[in-house]
Amino acid sequence: MQIAIVGSGPAGFYSLQSLLSKDPPGLRVDLFERLPAPFGLLRYGVAPDHPKIKSVTAVFERLARDPRVRLFGGVEFGRDLTIDDLAHHYDHAVICTGAESDRRLNIPGEDLRRSHSATEFVAWYNGHPDFADRVFDLDQERALVVGVGNVAADVARILCRTTEDLARTDIADHALEALSRSRVREVVVVGRRGPVQAAFSNPEMEELLALAGVEVVVDPNDLVLDARDLAAAAADRSVARRIELLQGAARRTPGAGLKRLTLRFLTSPVEIYDDGHGGVGAVRLVRNELVVGDDGTVRARATDRAETLDVGLVFRSVGYRGVPLPGVPFDDREGRVPNDAGRVLDRATGAPIPGLYVSGWIKRGPQGVIGTNKPDAAETIAQLVADHAAGIDFGPRDRDPDAVVRLLTGRGVRPVTRDDWDRLDALEVERGRANGRPRVKLVRREEFARALAT
Ligand code: NAP
Repeated sequence: MQIAIVGSGPAGFYSLQSLLSKDPPGLRVDLFERLPAPFGLLRYGVAPDHPKIKSVTAVFERLARDPRVRLFGGVEFGRDLTIDDLAHHYDHAVICTGAESDRRLNIPGEDLRRSHSATEFVAWYNGHPDFADRVFDLDQERALVVGVGNVAADVARILCRTTEDLARTDIADHALEALSRSRVREVVVVGRRGPVQAAFSNPEMEELLALAGVEVVVDPNDLVLDARDLAAAAADRSVARRIELLQGAARRTPGAGLKRLTLRFLTSPVEIYDDGHGGVGAVRLVRNELVVGDDGTVRARATDRAETLDVGLVFRSVGYRGVPLPGVPFDDREGRVPNDAGRVLDRATGAPIPGLYVSGWIKRGPQGVIGTNKPDAAETIAQLVADHAAGIDFGPRDRDPDAVVRLLTGRGVRPVTRDDWDRLDALEVERGRANGRPRVKLVRREEFARALAT
């Protein structure tokens, strides 16, 4: 049973774990990764000041050492290796490429200079090679973060953290340097709906409200609850706790923080204004009210109350979005691969494509924490194993494990192997040790190549 997993983030590794635990006879798994370093969102998405979340990396490292597994880093699906190649050499492939892009606000001014997606900023401060050259002008006094999910919390926190705090993490060196010179003094975070509907998890929000040296401003008027809100809080303890935390923050007497974090609800940007030089100068904010749709969902509706707020930077943090992969069906509206419990479906017939599976955000959309990928992957792998038993697969023609290596070599690709990664990892950790940091990341592809050449 020869399996290709495309993408070595949490979804890829949990798929691998599920396959290894089922231990079908003759199992061999090749794990392909576009970047020179494995672990996807764990390395390039999880905030640097959240080392506990990253501790699952140790589990993934153990899985990668299993003799049934090979790692091929620096191999781009669709360019170095196509879907036809996978069908030629493997029984099944599991696509685990996550959601690499971002949702847009679709408002005027969104593409002005200094208006960014949170995904770009996150990838930049985490040392993603494709984002190393992005420039974030942190000379601005006030930044706006749009969205009240955990990514928004990450972005706001990183903007507010002290250099001393950041310098203890594995944040990319270029970001540490830029953030240490940051002149951002106020971060305004806006949610379009109310606090009851906010997407923050409570630990993330609590952490945000308790940042050292940061004055937190919450308008009590945003926390006025109607009967529906009270019922929601009564029915869900996490909602009640969220409200309690916010009420606590709203009651605090404003202190003299070095920085200020303002959290606002029922507020949406409707236009970003040019500062006269093609950059963000201000934002038009509208006050929303909540309405309940026919399907029972609570939606934000703009009122006629609006204001203009001077801001120099905008980060839209309104969700990630999957990108299409060459040769793999894609639902553009949903931003993910159409599937039935992980079996990829043909767009024309709606029938499963033999041999092809998905797991993670590209399967279910960009929701859930790292651990959510575990049951998600188990579901996909259960389909794969059942199909295998029923003789449903790609029908590969060349199952020689060396054939893939020859194919890649012939295309001028020199994959990063597991042994290579062990060396790179040791080097990063060594570089961090001198400064009391968990690691100092290699960032650019040339740095990885140089490190491997020595
Ligand atoms: P998210 O949790 O889906 O939050 C997206 C936010 O954007 C919501 O507040 C949403 O509001 C808002 N939004 C969407 N469209 C909007 C629009 N047009 N205008 C204004 N606001 C809009 O997404 P995320 O923050 O990107 O996080 C992705 C997943 O990763 C989540 O499951 C999250 O929990 C997880 N994550 C976890 C951690 C952690 O555990 N520490 C860290 C980072 C991310 P509505 O609710 O009104 O749509």
